Amino acid sequence: MIAQVIVDVVHTNVDRLFSYLIPEGMELEAGVRVEVPLGKRRVDGFVIDLTEEDDLPEDLPLHKLRPVIRRLDEYPALLPALITLARQLADENHCPLSETLRLMIPAAMRTGRIQRKLETVAQLLPGVDAEKEAAAMKRAPKRAMLLRLLSDGQPHAVSQLSQLVANPRDGLKPLQELGLIQLCEQEVFRSPYQAEDEERSSAPPLTADQQEALCGMLPALEKGEGAFLLHGVTGSGKTEVYLAMASRTLEMGKGAIILVPEIALTPQMVRWFRNRFGPATAVLHSRLTDGQRYDEWRRIRLGEARVVVGARSAIFAPVERLGLIVIDEEHEQTYLSDKFPRYDARRVAALRCANEKASLILSSATPSILSFAMARRGDYTLVEMPRRVGNRPLPEVTVVDMRKELEAGNRSIFSALLIRKLKACLDSGNQAMLFLNRRGYNTFVSCRSCGYVVKCAQCDLSMTLHRHGEDDPGQLRCHMCGSVLPPPETCPECGSKYIRYFGSGTQRVEEEMHKLFPQVTTVRMDIDTTRGRDAHARLLEQFRKGKAQVLIGTQMIAKGLDFPKVTLVGVVAADMTLNLPDYRSVERTFQLVTQVAGRAGRAQYPGEVVVQSYKPDHPCIEAAARQDYRAFFEMEFSRRRAGLYPPFTMLTRLLVESPEENCCKETAQQLFEEMQRYLDGNPAQKKKTLMLRMDEAPVKRIRGQYRYHVLMKLFDHPDARPILRRLSELAATEKDRCQIYCEVNPATMM
Ligand code: ADP
Ligand code: ZN
Ligand code: ZN
Repeated sequence: MIAQVIVDVVHTNVDRLFSYLIPEGMELEAGVRVEVPLGKRRVDGFVIDLTEEDDLPEDLPLHKLRPVIRRLDEYPALLPALITLARQLADENHCPLSETLRLMIPAAMRTGRIQRKLETVAQLLPGVDAEKEAAAMKRAPKRAMLLRLLSDGQPHAVSQLSQLVANPRDGLKPLQELGLIQLCEQEVFRSPYQAEDEERSSAPPLTADQQEALCGMLPALEKGEGAFLLHGVTGSGKTEVYLAMASRTLEMGKGAIILVPEIALTPQMVRWFRNRFGPATAVLHSRLTDGQRYDEWRRIRLGEARVVVGARSAIFAPVERLGLIVIDEEHEQTYLSDKFPRYDARRVAALRCANEKASLILSSATPSILSFAMARRGDYTLVEMPRRVGNRPLPEVTVVDMRKELEAGNRSIFSALLIRKLKACLDSGNQAMLFLNRRGYNTFVSCRSCGYVVKCAQCDLSMTLHRHGEDDPGQLRCHMCGSVLPPPETCPECGSKYIRYFGSGTQRVEEEMHKLFPQVTTVRMDIDTTRGRDAHARLLEQFRKGKAQVLIGTQMIAKGLDFPKVTLVGVVAADMTLNLPDYRSVERTFQLVTQVAGRAGRAQYPGEVVVQSYKPDHPCIEAAARQDYRAFFEMEFSRRRAGLYPPFTMLTRLLVESPEENCCKETAQQLFEEMQRYLDGNPAQKKKTLMLRMDEAPVKRIRGQYRYHVLMKLFDHPDARPILRRLSELAATEKDRCQIYCEVNPATMM
């Protein structure tokens, strides 16, 4: 037999199968990782296929083949279904197969940086009567104690015994010599769980909406089919539906993957699953240590864990006999990968479900325009949960016109109404949350005389003031590259002293809050306060335990939170996302306001929401205040149709980055002309092209790299596919001192 191997080197030159001899005595199967010779090097590779010697092409005689050097793992790292998936993704993304295969295993495993962890365990030998032997050891109390601890016949880790008996090895060695126990090395899995995760709980009686949703989806689950869009208002109890579906999946002997936007932000989700399914649950996300990730991955691969809760990349978890994929908060941008290959986890989920005969559930209180449109077209079955658990009312939302506040002489960042409601909420002993989608203190610094705005020297972006308290002069920070500057005392352009600070961030909100309510305790959650591995969980726990009365954060950090005592939510500046230069800004604003409002009044006390805006009449703010998804969808869908935006069209671009501006611009210009020539030669493709343009990117420079792009707007039509292929071919060409990226409907167009 011959092993067909993809070498783990990302380059188009080696993007094909290489044939190797399988040496005498080596067992190989598809999916196994191996070490193979490649030219003068030794590289890792994946066995993709085994073929007969007769299948070798004419020009590759058997004696020319070199043998596989060694097998790397004792089990195949890649499941057949994941090899198929990698092939499809390489095809769709026009990238080498080795690049998509890499998505399927933990990075630390590929580089060999991480190894299995072994631990010494002690176990009573079969047939030994521990009690009798212990009773006979009157003069060796430590040995007697150890024998009693081991009397259950189970293996016990020596490290754990040492918590009960000092220096257990002193006693274990003689017991082993006496032939009573055995000591051996056993693998242990590094665990990311906390004590609370290990409590057990059972399902509550389901609400009518939950039952109805399950009735709609269980028959498909049992047949291994179906794609659903679960649209349930905030607090309708969607998690319980995932738990019930996962539970049935396990009963059927199958496995499930539950994707959440950013797991470190939703520790509650892990807890709910772990409490229900115990060690059958695994988690995969970016905040695990390499060891934890490797071990969780292997618990899944070896079939010990069959329910995976994880962030985007968990969509590639090696779950065998997959029965269900759930994508929670499916509208979130985090499901679009920002690294190459740029996959969309929702698309990957759909492929996996179709390949492996599993059911798919996309779920959200505010589905993306694309998914809801697909449900209307019949691509997904729409399942709705219109009521909150226990028929709790949706929170009452008041929109405050901030222009009127200014007219009335209120220059604070809080409106009179928000201050009044905060006072009432805090006086009654409840909790409040305040959201602002910008961190730092002031969001930009500008000269009143000449209009100069302080920008980062490396990036074309204004810098944000960060400071701690009144006396701290603070520092200016670039949110793109992290570089810092002391705040200027005079204008660097004209020397004027009229340097002023504008706009507010979360630090400012916290400071104003303390001025208004000096005795009230707060926690602030934004990127600045949550850098450590456990910082998120720690801050949320503080708030949950009531150690702080007010949580202040960026909206990004506030998804999926469920705090029973929160009765008031304030959106400090709803316009911040509305003003972003992106066709999705309206959708984002609606989602943020609705989701954030949904954090209030989730238990017995009704919730109130105050939304502050300079554009209170904007239809998207009005629809969000009414939490009327349908109205918002209809409005936004027709706006997209009229403006020919996605999902009616595709926005694609070739982004060119270079440390030299001229070089960057010239390359972009060449690419532009190349595409023009291509379209002139291909009339069918030209007809599907609405726009072709070359421009400076909206952010002209990032980390010292100049940026230009060739933008295209295409009809989403089969005739447009060859254009995408041409674009990715162009992106793969080597250009001096330039990087070229091909992006299709990217998460941002910065
Ligand atoms: P959603 O994700 O739809 O916003 P959650 O799944 O977070 O809502 O549920 C909201 C709250 O209702 C949670 O505290 C949850 O424990 C509770 N809950 C869900 N289902 C039930 C039920 N059937 N009976 C009682 N409480 C429930
Ligand atoms: Zn100036
Ligand atoms: Zn910068």
